[in-house]
Amino acid sequence: NPNKTFEYRIMPYGDEHLLLIARDITRVSQLEEMRKDFVANVSHELRTPLTVINGYLEILPIDEDSDPFMQKAMKEMTSQTQRMQSLIEDLLVLSRIEASSERIYENVVNVPVMLAQVEREAQSLNKEKNHTITFHVDEDLYVFGVETELRSACSNLVFNAVHYTPAGGEINVYWQREVNGAQFSVVDNGDGIEQNHLNRLTERFYRVDKARSRKTGGSGLGLSIVKHVLSHHNSRLEISSTLGEGSTFSFVLDNELITEKL
Ligand code: ADP
Repeated sequence: NPNKTFEYRIMPYGDEHLLLIARDITRVSQLEEMRKDFVANVSHELRTPLTVINGYLEILPIDEDSDPFMQKAMKEMTSQTQRMQSLIEDLLVLSRIEASSERIYENVVNVPVMLAQVEREAQSLNKEKNHTITFHVDEDLYVFGVETELRSACSNLVFNAVHYTPAGGEINVYWQREVNGAQFSVVDNGDGIEQNHLNRLTERFYRVDKARSRKTGGSGLGLSIVKHVLSHHNSRLEISSTLGEGSTFSFVLDNELITEKL
């Protein structure tokens, strides 16, 4: 039946037989599709009113000579609308990646060039924190993949390291070839994360320290975006961390995804 969706499992049955179990997941996947559409539509619809609010905020005649309360209100409204805008952008990115049917073997990504852009953005984000951020990237590394998605995964991981490492920290970013493929990793000497949080970090809106993460301005969707990007590229996020010592976020792109310059 083409209108039904099934999930299959094959198990050994005795010595000579296999048992095929088919589970009808039509309803579950319909609901999942509805949820995705709903999130995508709501995010899209929220964009316009926010742009309008932001536009008016920019032209309101409030400056350093204005009433201090008005200045404070203005600052808070501006920062909260910006937070909402970045949350909506992240929700849209996530919806786009979830719906992405772009084939990974159709595009070749020049890894050093892509990471050079991530590095520039990280350095500008780093102005207040003054970390030492060092990139170690193999030259001539080309992979099959969707560039916008991979860049977004890498920048989320690098920006998190910048946010969650106390000022003056050390952050090393690697993308190097190894036996199994090409490994990307971000190693920081920041706050670290308690073990019991590790396997929930990629859930939407999951945060270890809600109040503080919110202050850093993140949407709580970063690692969820990373997870989806990596699953689209047949990979997965590995996290290891020690509280107070730092964290390592890494993934490997399989040898099959490594290629030559086209
Ligand atoms: P957020 O927008 O809150 O940063 P993410 O999905 O990117 O959302 O990250 C989820 C949570 O994981 C963060 O709120 C933070 O608690 C934790 N986290 C992520 N990266 C790091 C890191 N490098 N060091 C310590 N904690 C981290």
